[in-house]
Amino acid sequence: MTKKRITIEDISKPSKKLTELRKEDFKPLPPPLDTPESTPDFAPLGEKAREQYEASLDDTIALSIPKPKNKQEEDELVAKFLSGLQKLFTKENNWTFLQPLLLSMDYCASCHTCSDSCHIYEASGRNPVYRPAYRSEVFRRLYKKHVKSKGGLLQAWRDGEIELNWTTVARLAELAYRCNLCRRCAQTCPIGVDNGLITHEIRKLFSQEMGIAPKELHESGSVLQLKVGSSTGMNKEVAKDNMEFIDEDVSEKTGITVKTPWDKAGADILLIHNAGEIMAWPMNPGAFGVIFEVAGVSWTMSSEIAGYDGINYGVWYDDAQFARVAVKHAEAAKKLGVKKIVLGECGHAHKALTVIADRVLSGDLNIPRESAMVTLEDLIFSGRIKVDPSRNDFPVTLHDPCNLVRLMGIVEPQRRIIRHIAPRFREMEPHGVYNYCCGGGSGFAIMSGHNFSDWRNQLSGRKKVEQILNAFKDEMDPSIRKFVCAPCSNCKGQIRDLIAYYDLWEKYSITYDGLVELIVNCMTDVKEGFIEWEMH
Ligand code: SF4
Ligand code: SF4
Repeated sequence: MTKKRITIEDISKPSKKLTELRKEDFKPLPPPLDTPESTPDFAPLGEKAREQYEASLDDTIALSIPKPKNKQEEDELVAKFLSGLQKLFTKENNWTFLQPLLLSMDYCASCHTCSDSCHIYEASGRNPVYRPAYRSEVFRRLYKKHVKSKGGLLQAWRDGEIELNWTTVARLAELAYRCNLCRRCAQTCPIGVDNGLITHEIRKLFSQEMGIAPKELHESGSVLQLKVGSSTGMNKEVAKDNMEFIDEDVSEKTGITVKTPWDKAGADILLIHNAGEIMAWPMNPGAFGVIFEVAGVSWTMSSEIAGYDGINYGVWYDDAQFARVAVKHAEAAKKLGVKKIVLGECGHAHKALTVIADRVLSGDLNIPRESAMVTLEDLIFSGRIKVDPSRNDFPVTLHDPCNLVRLMGIVEPQRRIIRHIAPRFREMEPHGVYNYCCGGGSGFAIMSGHNFSDWRNQLSGRKKVEQILNAFKDEMDPSIRKFVCAPCSNCKGQIRDLIAYYDLWEKYSITYDGLVELIVNCMTDVKEGFIEWEMH
């Protein structure tokens, strides 16, 4: 247990760090990782980084905010924050989420029911700074003092006073990146307060009004995507070349000739992958090609800007960037005149384009959007894809991507498929809409600066490691190869990192991949042995 009592007011009191992270405080992992040696040491932040950047929250850095040079610079930044705070609560400046934000701002019973639902709070050994309501309460008090009632003694007495200074602002910015936006806490709140939404809005204020956002999501994320076509940095020529190589490889491997169609006007489906798949897990887009080829689907990819990359990082930190990318996706589909867009295995791309984009896409940009989970379910159960489940005779468990499952309700299609094709399938507990985030949600999977990857693997990802070990606890013998199915590119990246961090492949033969790989592995039309049993 963390010994020091930390109050809401402490956020504004300058100190080297608001809270200390110690490995011995973290929640123990289940066997066989229940010994201290099983968890690597939590790397302390380097002295140079500590001097250069704001790191006074928990000695971890997600944002690399340069320290202001003097008091005047601090005051200017605080004034910018205050002006952004006031704008956030006007309907002209927050046409997306003002109403639910107000509901979550006005009421909180301080019952702490939400605390027990948060995997980060639990993993940290119940560190008060990571309580879902901690950052919300800081923000709520600032809102009440500076936006709603303009202060007053009664207000201060009732709600507690927080000084709005640079320490508060800098810590709040970092604290907005100690939450996966999984909204498991919102699911349990008896009065419907959404701490995940509040965190999102804090991130938005920092990005839109102060230009503070993780460089992985902004400069090398959405900005790059809008400039060259993909946040991976691939322009359309490179993407096409890569897909050509993938087609060759997958054709040789499966015996099915795949030739990815590009810019085919009038196709039934525009398939949009997370372009990270093309780079890091090429057999995932390859497997989609095999399935669509065997099933005789009319489909295409698009070479327009963002048309071949479903990533939309704006959904996690910036409404304007989100809207720019969402419009590009819809325009690519409109130009080709496809009947619908199908989102590949990427949870946040699903939520961005099918749910949140409803606020942006109107008229002829409002093209039907469908989850690949639903498309694949239809292809398998309509008999267009023939499978032999005995080819998948190994333990399989399923990770539920938060965006897909809790936040969109796509729970059963992937399960119906897996129950049908994997005879040794077992659920994680809990699962479905009560799942736990992989710990890479809201952009963390691609954030590894300073010692943030230790934070991500030891804290936000800890619950997922526990769930994976528990799901396979009767099969831990390393001679038994085990498969974590994660139908989301970001979750897959995080699960890959967790497996590597805790040595789960080398020691216990636990590996991971997407859903389409598992499907192709048991398709009777293809050569056997599609899944690569190695760490990749
Ligand atoms: S949204 Fe998820 S990670 Fe964030 S506070 Fe709530 S439960 Fe924790
Ligand atoms: S957000 Fe909801 S569950 Fe959490 S402390 Fe407030 S009222 Fe209780």
